[in-house]
Amino acid sequence: MTRLTGKQVTVAGAGALGLVIALTLARRGAQVTVCDPAAPGDNASGVAAGMLAPVFEAALDPAAAGHLDLFRAARDGWTDFAPVALNRTGALWRGPDAAGMEARLDALGARWRRTPEGPFTDEDWRLDPGAAMTVLFAQAARAGVRFETRAVEVRDVGPLVVATGAGGQGLAPELDHLTPIKGHILRVAGGPASGPVLRGAGVYLCPDPAAAVLGATMEFGRFDLRVEADQVAALKHLGESLWPGISGLRARAETGVRVGTPDGLPLVGPSRRDGVLLAVGARRNGWLLAPLVAQVIAAYFAGDDPGRWAARLDPRRFDNKDTDA
Ligand SMILES: Cc1cc2nc3c(=O)[nH]c(=O)nc-3n(C[C@H](O)[C@H](O)[C@H](O)COP(=O)(O)OP(=O)(O)OC[C@H]3O[C@@H](n4cnc5c(N)ncnc54)[C@H](O)[C@@H]3O)c2cc1C
Repeated sequence: MTRLTGKQVTVAGAGALGLVIALTLARRGAQVTVCDPAAPGDNASGVAAGMLAPVFEAALDPAAAGHLDLFRAARDGWTDFAPVALNRTGALWRGPDAAGMEARLDALGARWRRTPEGPFTDEDWRLDPGAAMTVLFAQAARAGVRFETRAVEVRDVGPLVVATGAGGQGLAPELDHLTPIKGHILRVAGGPASGPVLRGAGVYLCPDPAAAVLGATMEFGRFDLRVEADQVAALKHLGESLWPGISGLRARAETGVRVGTPDGLPLVGPSRRDGVLLAVGARRNGWLLAPLVAQVIAAYFAGDDPGRWAARLDPRRFDNKDTDA
């Protein structure tokens, strides 16, 4: 692994991807500046549920079906970011057709077991995004990363890592491949305080003693942050299948905008724009994928072999293809 001592780089964006990339590059000796015009956590990463869920994401999201191996490797990368606390209480299917889900988990090669409540996997973990960001900011600052409260603009020159989530327009031509996906999520007081994440059809519930997290809508093509009563009501209705009575509990609604690519995997690697590396488009798995994305970015930046996952994530894979799919 080539040291990056003395190499300077700007990271645009202080979400999950930008922070983990900045820390990874700084640990290898690079002089890193992170620029973001927003307050810490005022982004999709700050709104997210924080599931690190290779198994149920591969089982439930058609865009993720073929990527359990990559997702597992990404999750395992989190063990390098202590003291970010990892909750390993697993996840339980509480949706319809438990037998069908068991067959799907078998087909994927997931590790799971049958319980009276439904199929359970200990492969899916969780972190608390707010707490994780606090740790990542502190660790990055300790590793010498500098933070600037400003947007990176098109006239800024590289070396630049674009980790701008749903922003960053104009910083690289490949950003045109991204589609916004708005999500509503609810923090529910009085829901389950502990235990595994409960998964159902189009809904999940993450226990938490402060407020359980009920998520999340997938509203394709939407990038506004307005809280909408009908989306909140639909989410509560779905939540009843996981925790009867939850729709009557006090809930605070939040929204965030993820961005996705035509094949569901992020764009990670060199842009056609000189001096620019891309780390965008992590769809509903930005927290899960962040450590793996950071490893690939660090390898490209160092001129090392970017490794076995790089081809699947290569931003050039959509060149000359219809991106409307
Ligand atoms: C409701 C919801 C639930 C989710 N749950 C999960 C989950 O359980 N597990 C999981 O893994 N993922 C989850 N996600 C997805 C995850 O939140 C995203 O994939 C992830 O946050 C993307 O991180 P990011 O760093 O790419 O983008 P962001 O977190 O959006 O950060 C991008 C940052 O770039 C900044 N920026 C924009 N333009 C510029 C510019 N020109 N210059 C500098 N900075 C700029 C923005 O201000 C922002 O702070 C969820 C998302 C939502 C909305």
